[in-house]
Amino acid sequence: MAERKKKLVKTIKVDVDKCNGCRACEVICSAFHAAPRYSSNNPARSRIRVIRDPMKDIYVPVYAGENARAECLGRDKYVIDGKEYEECAFCRSSCPSRDLFKEPDSGLPLKCDMCESDPELEKPLCVQWCQVDALTYGEREEEAEEEAEPGDVEVGVESLVDTYGWEKVMETVTRLSISKKD
Ligand code: SF4
Ligand code: SF4
Repeated sequence: MAERKKKLVKTIKVDVDKCNGCRACEVICSAFHAAPRYSSNNPARSRIRVIRDPMKDIYVPVYAGENARAECLGRDKYVIDGKEYEECAFCRSSCPSRDLFKEPDSGLPLKCDMCESDPELEKPLCVQWCQVDALTYGEREEEAEEEAEPGDVEVGVESLVDTYGWEKVMETVTRLSISKKD
């Protein structure tokens, strides 16, 4: 039986009780992603942001995830250990409802890339810079989704040609390529 492929999943566990809101993680993340690297730092460009409400002792480090093109219509408030967290406090999306996770100059969405670099870092920099262990790095292996074998693609093309004819298929592929370049 063919062995299923594995993929490496990187995770960062966030302990909101340990975070003291120092924002060192924001500083190092924005410096790492500056161009050239480490030439500047600006938390507004960071891919981790700390939701802070010192009066309520609330500090929530949040990693930038996927971009959402529309606002949520319903929102939740969480109360944990007697602390009420604001709506959107745990949300990782850049979305039209707030300025978080948007590149300040271009407005383009930012996303955590786990400090992708070559050679790879032993741990993401925000984890390394957090002095109180509020961020813990972990890795695990998961079975990867089966990818279509090239053979499957060939069979698919053949059946399209059988159904619509070679000329029609080529005409559609050419049209798609042109519209993708536009
Ligand atoms: S570096 Fe650690 S303690 Fe400081 S804000 Fe970030 S997560 Fe919180
Ligand atoms: S893992 Fe790297 S890219 Fe992601 S938030 Fe932390 S410092 Fe930024």
